[in-house]
Amino acid sequence: MIWNFSFSLVTGIVLCIILGYYAVYPRLPIILNRYFVSLAVLEILTLAFDILSSWMDMNHSSFPVWLLYAVNMLYFILFVTRSYSMYAYTIALVSTRGRAPQIYFRAGRILLVLFWLICLSSVVCGTVFFIDRDGYHSGTGYFLLYVQMFLFLIMGMYLVIRYRKVLSNVVFYGIVLAYAVLCAGGIFRYLFPAFLLMDMFYMIVVMILYITVENADLYRESRTMSFDFQAFEQVVREHHNYGIWYHLIGVMPYNYNETRQIYGGAQIDGMLSQVGRYLREMFPSGTVFYERSGCFLIMIEGREAASKAVCEILPEVKSRFRDPWLVDGTKIYMNFVFGQMNSDLEISSVSLELEGIRRLLEKGGNGELNQDFVVDREMISQIVREFAVKKALSDALLHNRIQVYMQPIVDAKTGRVIGAEALSRLQDPKLGLIPPSEFIPLAEHSGSIIQVGEQVLAKTCEFLKGHARELSCLEFININLSPIQCMDHDLSDTFDLVPKAYGIDPAKLHLEITEESMVDPEVLKKQMDVLGLLGYTFALDDYGSGYANQFRIKTFPFSGIKLDMKIVWAHFREPDAILPNAVHSFLDRGLTITAEGVENAQMAEGLTEMGCTYLQGYYFSRPLPMEEFLEYLRKAS
Ligand code: C2E
Ligand code: CA
Ligand code: CA
Repeated sequence: MIWNFSFSLVTGIVLCIILGYYAVYPRLPIILNRYFVSLAVLEILTLAFDILSSWMDMNHSSFPVWLLYAVNMLYFILFVTRSYSMYAYTIALVSTRGRAPQIYFRAGRILLVLFWLICLSSVVCGTVFFIDRDGYHSGTGYFLLYVQMFLFLIMGMYLVIRYRKVLSNVVFYGIVLAYAVLCAGGIFRYLFPAFLLMDMFYMIVVMILYITVENADLYRESRTMSFDFQAFEQVVREHHNYGIWYHLIGVMPYNYNETRQIYGGAQIDGMLSQVGRYLREMFPSGTVFYERSGCFLIMIEGREAASKAVCEILPEVKSRFRDPWLVDGTKIYMNFVFGQMNSDLEISSVSLELEGIRRLLEKGGNGELNQDFVVDREMISQIVREFAVKKALSDALLHNRIQVYMQPIVDAKTGRVIGAEALSRLQDPKLGLIPPSEFIPLAEHSGSIIQVGEQVLAKTCEFLKGHARELSCLEFININLSPIQCMDHDLSDTFDLVPKAYGIDPAKLHLEITEESMVDPEVLKKQMDVLGLLGYTFALDDYGSGYANQFRIKTFPFSGIKLDMKIVWAHFREPDAILPNAVHSFLDRGLTITAEGVENAQMAEGLTEMGCTYLQGYYFSRPLPMEEFLEYLRKAS
């Protein structure tokens, strides 16, 4: 046969250019890249042997038979390995973003060895090819080459489709295109065997993968020229899956937003680009990532490099960060905190690991300036617990299992139970009773506090309706509103419809709002006005625990104030005129005062004398399950 090389030479040149460009450009430290390089290198070698063997076969009389066998054999071995290499690349690709079971690798390797053996058997039985006096001939088993090629293609495509969810759109369409090109290549090779076409198709695949997956610019943050957080997550995921040890150094600005406001965005961006360059220079053995809000992460693989970075380089870096950064003649002062974490923690899942890193970065805002923040076992077990509580919370919400306890509120003058505060409880089959101090903040973060609030409201209304006679002595039940609820546009709909469904008058429900809800005064004001029209009244919760002052409170339609137990206790530890004065001025304005945290008779007496309207605390009762609360009421009357 006469072969045509015209495509192959160009293909070889283009491949070398791509590979050369790839080699000099900075890359992410991920295993996927190694698979890419091996794919490209295998392709170059296959191409070289394709040309060499075809040329030698055409001039077979000038070469000894053993050499012809050797060169042709190498070509076929490379040909088979190249198909496997694309398949292995696909597994690595899906494992970077998720986790492909090891079984796919194993199956691929077994097939690879099998086809190697088939190729090798050609020497004895001429399976794929044989060489006689007339030169090279295809064997009866030549079609097996097509079988293995399409087998690996089908297996690879199966993986792509199976793990479609973990791939971004660009990557997914890139790899699908790559497979389509290979299929087309296989068909062309079959139809036009004289043209060495398959190599060109592989070159196109290498180009597609370079553009859609491997191109480092896809993962670079433009200001700092560091890799972005998406790339970081990929690297962490891969390191976790393959058990690669790394050390992480976090460099986080302190008061980033405030400082940005003072200097302006352009100056700070200029500074960040200097910081990125500086960190890359100082940590040549590490990879620098930029998260956001001025936070950088440096990942260093290997214990030796890490200890050098921490002991020798980091102190120098820290002292540099004490000096200002010069941007367009302006000295920019920004304080940075440092944090560290490494694989010695042996964290069990990637999501835990990433959460640990997120905590590390958050410490930028409130860390101590002189001490590195270190992610330790304790922090990880705290996150584990949080994950478990989150799960328990979503289960409870799904099955309508949020419980409501009632804590009596007593009229200070008469000592009679006059109301109650509804307090939510989370009873999980596995974790037991989880206090609200633990799950409410998580519910606020995830936004599910809206559902918690709805269940508390519905259960309180149900309670009022179901025990109307026993509860007729109560003038009100207080319900807590979280700041998140106060920003919810559907709040007033819920608080209109739910009591209506149970036939409860909203005037019987008092809403407790903390001062944190005042962050957006306009919105809160509007919400309160709408709820007020429905009949609700409002109490300011936890007065004295923050910055709320009388001027601010005045602008909202509160009808009562609840004193935080901390200031109540502080007053009884060291009595002075501050609390009584505040109480009097509220009373003068016609507001009711509820004192929380009343734990003994002496406090109850003192607070009554001070003029407090209502008292609430363990002295009267702890929050009680509904049945016990009814029992308590029966005894009290
Ligand atoms: P809070 O609104 O300030 O509720 C009063 C807390 O003080 C309750 O804690 C209550 O058990 C506790 N307490 C009452 N009297 C005493 C006392 O004499 N001594 C001591 N040491 N503690 C006393 P709890 O039930 O653990 O609730 C904690 C916080 O969780 C509540 O503080 C409230 O901010 C939040 N929370 C509870 N249920 C809900 C809810 O349904 N929705 C919202 N948004 N927040 C809730
Ligand atoms: Ca409250
Ligand atoms: Ca309170």
